[in-house]
Amino acid sequence: MSVSSRQILSQQHCATHEDVHAVAKCTQCGALMCLDCHGFDEHGMAVCPSCRDKALQDTQSQAEEDAIRPVPLEDTDSERGLAARILETLRLVIINPLEFSVRLLASNSLLRPLIFAYLCIVFGGTLSRIWDVTLELEGYKIFMEAVEKTNETMPSPMELPDRFWTALYVMSVPFEAFFRILMGTAVLHAGSVVAGGKGSLRKSTQVYAYSAGAFVLAMLPMVGMTMAVVVQIFALFAGLQVVHKLTVGRAMAVCSLSFIMTILFVR
Ligand SMILES: [Zn+2]
Ligand SMILES: [Zn+2]
Repeated sequence: MSVSSRQILSQQHCATHEDVHAVAKCTQCGALMCLDCHGFDEHGMAVCPSCRDKALQDTQSQAEEDAIRPVPLEDTDSERGLAARILETLRLVIINPLEFSVRLLASNSLLRPLIFAYLCIVFGGTLSRIWDVTLELEGYKIFMEAVEKTNETMPSPMELPDRFWTALYVMSVPFEAFFRILMGTAVLHAGSVVAGGKGSLRKSTQVYAYSAGAFVLAMLPMVGMTMAVVVQIFALFAGLQVVHKLTVGRAMAVCSLSFIMTILFVR
């Protein structure tokens, strides 16, 4: 969009909210829309609320006709084995959140995504902490060698990480994973309901649990955990727009809330 057309847009108002500036034009009907009215269809095109509802209804009925496959993990009709379906689910959540969100419409399981989320968080989280501990220990060794070389007594020698706390730090991941899933789902669902979401608690649980597949990325040293959180937010953002029919602005607000709660309460 050129500067001049953006200037023209900013002087125009949303078709639904007369006192709010428009940020975009519906690619279907051409209606002007504000951030709160701005949505995306399943192809990622900007659409107004009524065109989006229509697109979602079409997608929903397609899903009911079985034209859309559920999330691979639940796609038991497919010929592929469990391992292949898990990998395909991870690929979808991490690389293609838009397709993931559409396939959620055809998905219905609760236990499968919950077990999937639990295993991904325990796997990624444990490796992430093992990296933490290893790097800390390496740092300690390098420091002590430097101290021996200079032969000086340091004013405050670095302490060897305590074994008990180190073990507890790594081994508590499986317990924290329960808490993370429980709280993540609760915050997501409560936020979505407040934002006018129309989906059920089951759908919120599915969105959160599948998006937690991003936690396998936490196995990467140093940057892994940050990457996992960012990728999960993208999957949540795409998922909320479909299962709760939230607009971009509202989905963003709920994702930010979810992000802040994650940072505050679960490391
Ligand atoms: Zn429209
Ligand atoms: Zn509006």
